[in-house]
Amino acid sequence: MKMFIRGEWKDKSDKIEVRNPYDGSVIDTVPRGNASDVDDALRGAAEGAAIMRAMSALERSLILRRASELLTERQEDMARTISLEEGKILAEGRIEASRAGGIFELSAEEAKRLAGEVLPLDAAPGGTGKFGFTLRVPCGVVLAVTPFNFPLHLVCHKVGPALAAGNAVVVKPATDTPLSALKLVEILIEAGVPPLAVACLTGSGAEVGDALCADKRVRKVSFTGSYEVGDHICKVAGMKKVTMELGSNAPLVIMDDADLEKVATVTAVTGFANAGQVCISTQRILADSKVYDGFLDILTSKVEAIAAGDQLQKATGMGPMIRESDAERVHQWIDEAVASGARLLTGGSRTGTLLEPTVLADVEPQMRVSRDELFGPAVGVGRFKDIEEAIRMANDTDYGLSAAVFTQDIDRALRFAREVHSGNIHINWGTQWRADLMPYGGLKGSGMGKEGPRYAVEEMTETKMVVVHLKE
Ligand code: NDP
Repeated sequence: MKMFIRGEWKDKSDKIEVRNPYDGSVIDTVPRGNASDVDDALRGAAEGAAIMRAMSALERSLILRRASELLTERQEDMARTISLEEGKILAEGRIEASRAGGIFELSAEEAKRLAGEVLPLDAAPGGTGKFGFTLRVPCGVVLAVTPFNFPLHLVCHKVGPALAAGNAVVVKPATDTPLSALKLVEILIEAGVPPLAVACLTGSGAEVGDALCADKRVRKVSFTGSYEVGDHICKVAGMKKVTMELGSNAPLVIMDDADLEKVATVTAVTGFANAGQVCISTQRILADSKVYDGFLDILTSKVEAIAAGDQLQKATGMGPMIRESDAERVHQWIDEAVASGARLLTGGSRTGTLLEPTVLADVEPQMRVSRDELFGPAVGVGRFKDIEEAIRMANDTDYGLSAAVFTQDIDRALRFAREVHSGNIHINWGTQWRADLMPYGGLKGSGMGKEGPRYAVEEMTETKMVVVHLKE
């Protein structure tokens, strides 16, 4: 496919191959953008921002609604593109594609809700005779930098709200998975988005990232990806608004009154969907000593039943990882854990990008499979003796994106919700669950700011205060 900058589809002789992670076959190519393409894209977006700023809220809303309809009509094509370039099984590609229309519908609604407030200035000393209100205005140009693992979903979560708020948006999709984002742009143009108001620049983040993030024409950077790249972007971006949706090593706590069958069933999904490459994947399972052994038996049999293979085959329950180097890294961390005393209950072997779904028991907090973000198809189980220890262990991390507890005791559940430092808390479900309308984002090293169209629109607008000094 071509990239879309300054209102036009642009090809280049210098190309990047997009490969199917399962067998390495080339699916398509995209242009390798460079500094001059960055300049073009931002020049176009600055003009696009002026067009969007002048567009009525109703018009923006109607365009976004049309985009939502087109996304819904083209779900199956999108689902296949997602699975092919990312490696998730087709059933998961279909879920991702089916949510895109909903995100644009929510964004269309939010476009009509941008409002300020009237302030009681006469409550301030010297405020008699003053009338004040706020206006919410678009940021101008929003830069959206997105990761590989949800190549449509996470792009929609940035582009929908950016346009709803009256901005122009430049997307820099992950190099491994640019096709879904480019197909979204085709739909947006067809839906009536002014061509200068959206751009999708393909190319390596290491090569074009700094030029994009540092440029003064960009007022807002919305980033989803790893902590390391997010931290770098914050330093390069300088005086800009930023939203950072970063990684985690999400804990799932099992109290002694939990329904173990349900926990194991849920974990087989929330720990292994998309081969564990989800920012809120269940990674650290902490079980009360009293239920530890019983839980391991049930979990192992559920995970053994997940068939890893070609993501496009119906019988496959889990696809490949995105790159062989990542599968190799996760494999190495598993081996390291075993060498340090963890027990391998199932999985642990690898062929290319395919890593078997893995369960490790007796995992200690200092092991890498527990301490760092694993981002692969493995869970590590450790034990605790009481809720104090469970909460302490859950909080013993630099991350704070999602945490879960299984218990029938409301007091313990609410204590967990209050005391665990995490942006999302789930009670009686795994760490991986999201409705697109909810505020979503991490604490601590998992980032700052929230997504979900209502919250993202707030982050992609700025407030002006207007004071009218009335005649006495
Ligand atoms: P990366 O951080 O490697 O890349 C994310 C994006 O940043 C890509 O588009 C990448 O481009 C780009 N990038 C890389 N270097 C730079 C740079 N110097 N300047 C600007 N942009 C740059 O993440 P992955 O794609 O590997 O995704 C996995 C990570 O994303 C995990 O840590 C995961 O937890 C996190 N994530 C967080 C979510 C959340 O909502 N909190 C949701 C989903 C994922 P390129 O591909 O060309 O390198």
